[in-house]
Amino acid sequence: MGTISKRNARLPLRPSSTQLKSAITYILLTASVLLFLNYYTSNTLRNMIFSAQQRSMEDKAQLMATALLQTQELSELPVSQTVNSLEDVHTTRTVVTDGTAVALYDSLEAGNATGKMIFFPEILHALQGNQVFFCQYEDEAIESRVAIPLMRGGEIHGVIYLMEYDRDQGALIAALERNVLSISIALEIAIVLMSVFFSMAFSRKMQRILHSVRSMRDGDYANQIEIKGRDELSRLSREFNDLAERLDASEQRRRQFVSDASHELKTPLASIKLLSDSILQNEMDVQTQREFIGDIGREADRLGRLTQKLLTLTKLDSALEEEREVLEGAAVVNKVVRMLKPLAQLRSITIEHSAQEVKLRMVEDDLYQIVFNLTENAIKYNLDQGWVGITLAREKDQIILKVEDSGVGIPEEALGHIFDRFYRVDKARSRAAGGAGLGLSIVYDMVKRNYGEIHAAKRDGGGSVFTVTFPPFEEQEVAE
Ligand code: ADP
Repeated sequence: MGTISKRNARLPLRPSSTQLKSAITYILLTASVLLFLNYYTSNTLRNMIFSAQQRSMEDKAQLMATALLQTQELSELPVSQTVNSLEDVHTTRTVVTDGTAVALYDSLEAGNATGKMIFFPEILHALQGNQVFFCQYEDEAIESRVAIPLMRGGEIHGVIYLMEYDRDQGALIAALERNVLSISIALEIAIVLMSVFFSMAFSRKMQRILHSVRSMRDGDYANQIEIKGRDELSRLSREFNDLAERLDASEQRRRQFVSDASHELKTPLASIKLLSDSILQNEMDVQTQREFIGDIGREADRLGRLTQKLLTLTKLDSALEEEREVLEGAAVVNKVVRMLKPLAQLRSITIEHSAQEVKLRMVEDDLYQIVFNLTENAIKYNLDQGWVGITLAREKDQIILKVEDSGVGIPEEALGHIFDRFYRVDKARSRAAGGAGLGLSIVYDMVKRNYGEIHAAKRDGGGSVFTVTFPPFEEQEVAE
């Protein structure tokens, strides 16, 4: 695995375009939200302060207007006395003009405009009978101006103009805006960093998966993806590893099968070659030649049987439902016994069989082939004057086929392997009996594709017993 991680480490950390797109979208979206939040907070705060300022300035101007309108005449002295008597009214600048915009009072010391005309736009507007308010936030200070007309008997006699320059409230706005902005920037930086981090992590995982998928495409199934965690990519990787393992196992089985099959095919071919070379190269009488040719024929038969078995095995995919049909179990067992009796008789082996009238729903030839292979083995691996027993019966809701023999038996350690392809306990004996170690694996595959189970065991009193069970066939009753 070390080489794999090294190879992975060399992979470029290019974020996948999907991930890059979603990261950029996310960053832009959060940036817009933060920008809007900044604008909204600052705007609301300014508006709140401006309207509080307007209320306070207009109240002050009204208070001053009420006091001024009580004086007999609007001239410099009474106006200045009245304004100075209003202790509660604090402003940066207070100006009172007459109806012609000439200042009667100005609180400014430097640049005092008393006696001069003042053309402030607010004053000119107020002289036309309007109440004017203006407020702005600039250079971290709030500047607000109010101007109201002094009306007596429906006529405009002058204007009160108040101006305030407030640094405290301005500083408050500035501090708050700065804080919100700093928090937003910090937040956005964190979001960008996190997006980059997750993008890179995602892309690293993606690269690893891609790398493994490519290796698998090139036939290297051993390349596992090393991804920890519980997210979707980790789960995908685990599924992928599982798939790779299965493919690897199946590939190894395929290779093993091909190599075993070639080996098996080579042996009779080598014998044929040897025998034909002997005939060609050696002077021999007709009788010996005939014997050699007979041997060649037997080897050719062996090859034929072997290829037939190999073909059967490769075709044993799971059977389609429509390929199954209802079979008479007893008839199949009787047929097998009839076929194999001559072989048994050659070595004085007795076959006892008892088959109940059971019906099975299976692929047509499978049951015959299963009973045939098991019985043939029971004869092949038996002793002379031995015994073979076949029973087929329904027990509870299972159909049980049992093939027993009093033969050589199967050693304990071999029991777990006898269904493997090309497995033979005693190669010499099996070869002599014409076997290639494929009969039982054909039986196994056939039992499995008909939803059955098969089990091999030692028989009490010597020999072996093969038990095949098929699950209840409910449809079978329907089919009857
Ligand atoms: P073969 O074609 O060699 O008979 P099988 O797949 O039918 O191959 O059987 C595999 C091996 O299992 C045989 O080589 C034999 O050693 C052993 N075997 C199978 N059936 C029996 C049996 N009834 N008694 C003892 N050994 C058996």
